[in-house]
Amino acid sequence: MIERFRMMGHADAAASSRAIFQARGPSLLSITCVDRLMLWGMTHEQTPFSAQANQADPAGHVQPVLRFAPSPNGFLHLGHAYSALFNDRLARELGGRLILRIEDIDLQRSRPEFEAAIFEDLVWLGLEWEMPVRRQSQHFADYELAREKLEEAGLLYPCFCTRGDIASAVASLPDWPLDPDGAPLYPGTCKHLSVEERARRVDSGLHAALRLDMGAALARAAGRIGWSEYGEGPEPRDVTAEPALWGDVVLARKDVPTSYHLSVVVDDAGQGVTDVARGMDLFNATSLHRLLQDLLDLPAPNYRHHEVIADDEGRKLAKSQRSPALRDLRAQGISASDVRKQLGF
Ligand SMILES: [Zn+2]
Repeated sequence: MIERFRMMGHADAAASSRAIFQARGPSLLSITCVDRLMLWGMTHEQTPFSAQANQADPAGHVQPVLRFAPSPNGFLHLGHAYSALFNDRLARELGGRLILRIEDIDLQRSRPEFEAAIFEDLVWLGLEWEMPVRRQSQHFADYELAREKLEEAGLLYPCFCTRGDIASAVASLPDWPLDPDGAPLYPGTCKHLSVEERARRVDSGLHAALRLDMGAALARAAGRIGWSEYGEGPEPRDVTAEPALWGDVVLARKDVPTSYHLSVVVDDAGQGVTDVARGMDLFNATSLHRLLQDLLDLPAPNYRHHEVIADDEGRKLAKSQRSPALRDLRAQGISASDVRKQLGF
């Protein structure tokens, strides 16, 4: 059924989605859903970070913890719905807990109306999750502690380069390698700046990102790093991490004192996440996350990279401009049960 979405010509994605889903009339948020949203608003309080950490019972069993972690910088699409439903089903099958995390470190792109829409769409899909919901923007201090630990180990260095600086530095270098996201590996321009030069640039008002010294990090890491990969099945396979694919990756941005990679490993550990279920598009990021967990003495969760629902040009639906948002499907009269059925849930 997912194949059917893949085959969808996105030029007429809306029309196709109407055809694929057999509309069953207008589907409105029920009073119950609205009540739950209001309840969320009233109970959405910060609690101590450790309150959500997972504890083993006296017999040593740890209840599985899964998470769905969207960013409030757009509306949820079918690809997000698949990931949320996948985590929800797994939590039930494993007898575990499902938590929701709002990954909003990008303060420029995150908007409250998108966050509200996430809750509305997930309630519409029939999902329930534990309260309170962790918002990353309320936990910059946690990421700072992790960053300091890496800094104290001598594994970070400031980088003043713009994207343009990096592009021109590698322009004349044939076959310069790209990272898994398609960006050129950092050529190390700022790696050997003197302490005085770094201070001079900071004093002159330049902002610095902090990069991981990958060579030093790999030298410090304890031998082979890998993870248990379950994919969408019941049995794991061992995967060897290849963090060097990322080169000297940015761990704290110029505009944000952390990064996706740093925040996610801190949160997964702090929230006691035992099983990270997310799209295959993040498979290579897991190599870097395992390295960071090793460097920060954080536990390694199991990983379950699931299929990414893509449009007919292979772009993931969440990033495809013309793929319908869940709320557009809803407006077309498509029901949540139609969505669940078509996604295989
Ligand atoms: Zn630089």
